[in-house]
Amino acid sequence: MIEDKNQQRTALSKLGEFGLIDHLTASFKINQSTTVKGIGDDAAVITCKNKQLTVTTDLLIEGVHFDLSYMPLKHLGYKAVMVNVSDVYAMNAEATQITVSIAVSNRFPLEALDELYDGIKTACEIYNVDLIGGDTTSSTSGLLISVTAIGQAKKDDIVYRSGAKPKDLLVVSGDLGAAYMGLQVLEREKEVFKVNPNNQPDLEPYTYIVERQLKPEARKDIVKLLKDLEVKPTSMIDISDGLSSEILHLCKHSKVGCDLYEEKIPLDPQVISTCEEFNINSTTVALNGGEDYELLMTIAQDDYPKIKANPNLTVIGYMKEAHEKAHLITRANTAVEITAQGWNGLSE
Ligand code: ADP
Ligand code: MG
Repeated sequence: MIEDKNQQRTALSKLGEFGLIDHLTASFKINQSTTVKGIGDDAAVITCKNKQLTVTTDLLIEGVHFDLSYMPLKHLGYKAVMVNVSDVYAMNAEATQITVSIAVSNRFPLEALDELYDGIKTACEIYNVDLIGGDTTSSTSGLLISVTAIGQAKKDDIVYRSGAKPKDLLVVSGDLGAAYMGLQVLEREKEVFKVNPNNQPDLEPYTYIVERQLKPEARKDIVKLLKDLEVKPTSMIDISDGLSSEILHLCKHSKVGCDLYEEKIPLDPQVISTCEEFNINSTTVALNGGEDYELLMTIAQDDYPKIKANPNLTVIGYMKEAHEKAHLITRANTAVEITAQGWNGLSE
């Protein structure tokens, strides 16, 4: 669907490995005071002053995690950074550095990697993280990207998955299900395009959900908001696999149960209308869709007045004793257990 806009195709072999690394990384600047040495030696050097460091890695593989027929490389670079810094924010920490490793086949010209690194650079600038290293190697088939993100926080500020207590409120940032529905639209347009390449897709009614799929934003702003509101969540996780799976992680690690209210789940109107169009249940999408990169947290009841007026945060349930397990309370007021296999859909 995305046409190859690269008129020029410079073979990677023209630059050699070191020439390529220099070319890709030359324009990246160091902004974090904790970066002592970035790219260019055997290892980067970071200082952490009186803080604790967080480290997280994600691996993205072509054909498994992304499809280049509708994912522009620039967006892919941006998203690869988002996926990782999101994990740092889920620890209530500040993302400070990343490393980026790529395996690339000779199917990709230099211009394609330039686009990928353009997206990585934009993400680094907006989220204020330094690129401090990586690795570059060849692959026999597709593209593979591994990003490691490093963050830091004061010891007492770090929030784990394990701190939720019964009666704590279950709170989510933003809205859910949009990235999944964006993917459904893109997959459909790809099939239409295969049949008739002249058929230009009209994505206008789907701008929000397609953007949520192609250009997700990690919730750095929520970490700041929580600090400003003087709220420290008792537990937190980012939503990469869908609400139900993340709720079960919090319940398991915190040894608690949970009631989630279907009617409280925040959905964008575009998600609701696209679900109707695709004849998919929007609750199922929010529970199992994934890739929302919102933050799911629990907060003490005492903190409720501090968050209740905030449009970025929605209370969607509350925690219970472990033996009470995790349930979805449907609009019809029936309790459906949320299971490890994912949620089974509404049996209406
Ligand atoms: P080594 O042989 O010690 O692994 P490399 O030659 O692979 O070192 O890398 C040289 C420098 O360039 C290192 O600082 C490394 O972290 C960095 N680097 C290599 N590949 C990338 C990449 N794709 N993106 C960013 N930095 C990279
Ligand atoms: Mg190397």
